[in-house]
Amino acid sequence: MPAFTRIAGAAIVGAQAELVDVQISVATQQEGGDATFRIVGLPDSALREGRERVRGAVLHGGWPWPWRPVTVNLAPAGARKQGAALDLPIALGVLAAEGLAGDAAALSHVLCMGELTLDGGVLPVRGVLAAAEAARRRGLTRAWVPAANAAEAAAVDGLEVVAVPTLGAAIGHAGGLVTLPRQPPGTWRPAAWRGSTSAVRGQPLAVQAAWIAAAGGHNLLLSGPPGCGKTLLARHVVDLLPPLTRPESLEASRVHSIAGLLEGGLLRRRPFRAPHHSASLAGLVGGGSVPRPGEVSLAHRGVLFLDELPEFARSTLEALRQPLEDGVITVARASGRAEFPAQALVVAACNPCPCGWHGVADRCRCTRTARERYRLRVSGPLRDRFDLQVSLQPVDPDRLVGADEPSPYDLGDLRRARTRQGDRWNARIPAAALPEAVSPTEAARREVVRCARRLGLSARGVHRALRVARTLADLRDEDRVDVDEVRIALTLREA
Ligand SMILES: [Zn+2]
Repeated sequence: MPAFTRIAGAAIVGAQAELVDVQISVATQQEGGDATFRIVGLPDSALREGRERVRGAVLHGGWPWPWRPVTVNLAPAGARKQGAALDLPIALGVLAAEGLAGDAAALSHVLCMGELTLDGGVLPVRGVLAAAEAARRRGLTRAWVPAANAAEAAAVDGLEVVAVPTLGAAIGHAGGLVTLPRQPPGTWRPAAWRGSTSAVRGQPLAVQAAWIAAAGGHNLLLSGPPGCGKTLLARHVVDLLPPLTRPESLEASRVHSIAGLLEGGLLRRRPFRAPHHSASLAGLVGGGSVPRPGEVSLAHRGVLFLDELPEFARSTLEALRQPLEDGVITVARASGRAEFPAQALVVAACNPCPCGWHGVADRCRCTRTARERYRLRVSGPLRDRFDLQVSLQPVDPDRLVGADEPSPYDLGDLRRARTRQGDRWNARIPAAALPEAVSPTEAARREVVRCARRLGLSARGVHRALRVARTLADLRDEDRVDVDEVRIALTLREA
């Protein structure tokens, strides 16, 4: 009967991981046969090439390769397995089947991940955090992972994590010859709230909009000439957002881990992503033959800053619309569907015209048609996703060197506004729930109707203003929305 071992590996599907039962069967001397080495169970090409890495690493380390039939089955067979993270469990399993890596039965309770180099090194892999969580859900308590991924695995409660530098070290550890140190369990502490001072000068309305955006999770569109502080304002918004909670950090860190961008343990600061306007569709919303998260998912629970919004490809911008609304992106591929979270607060910036100087003295040389064409590059429905739209003016140099400007609110206001919203953000109140959630006074209600008629607001426009008005009332710790809040909300809607 062939020698048999099993060990737990993992495959990444969207922002989640599924455990893979890596089953290894090695024919005995008596059974003989040729030296075939097969991997079955829907491996992708990177994984099939893994055979060479696995055999190379084993031979380089001075262990004997069984020159008899070796079969690796990856179960469940229906799910496509991608990448090289299964190298390490396969190599360990083969050597355990040969009696060279300790007690084979003990290995079946270990989550094992790592890409091998031909000389036996263990390289970091993607998705270790999600895999560690999946292992814990299945009752596993131990994980052996690449050293660079150890901190993220150790962030999962109840998992004993060992950092594996080389195949040799893993074999020694499995056989009890060496004891690799246990990664200290990750302890969660939230980051400090960045605070309220802004480097932005001379733009009181835009600064107020930044506070409101952060308080209620509203998307913000800034329009103004070059150098008026649009990028600074976008950074101000992410600093004003409350620190990540642990559940939020787990969500965001999982995405960064799958993109191969997580360094050390869990993210403590909210992500700030600022993709260039030449970014591809896949780069922005996610995709690829092995679906990877795009910028909008990497900004999950943080801020996505789209500078020079009209310069992005129109198709790319339109593809952003639905995910921004739903807070989730589904990428469909032949290999199945992958889902990534996408609850990012979007701050976008644009110039008022192609040259950037329209409205500033007489500096603009653009024709009316050119200006209109420029404006139309951002479609109405996309513009509708921005609850707050503010025009900025060039700043008088006198103010740039002046004293700190007072903030419109303080962190106490922000904290109260956040608490009043509970788990939801005002920006995400569904239209049907608005009347009850906003609770306008009779005078405020009349003001909304009056302004909607006068300004020709669409239903969507009215809803947008009501959500912002709710946040303004929350910042003042008021239960009901009054006329003032309605008026300010309407001032902040037209760039
Ligand atoms: Zn111009």
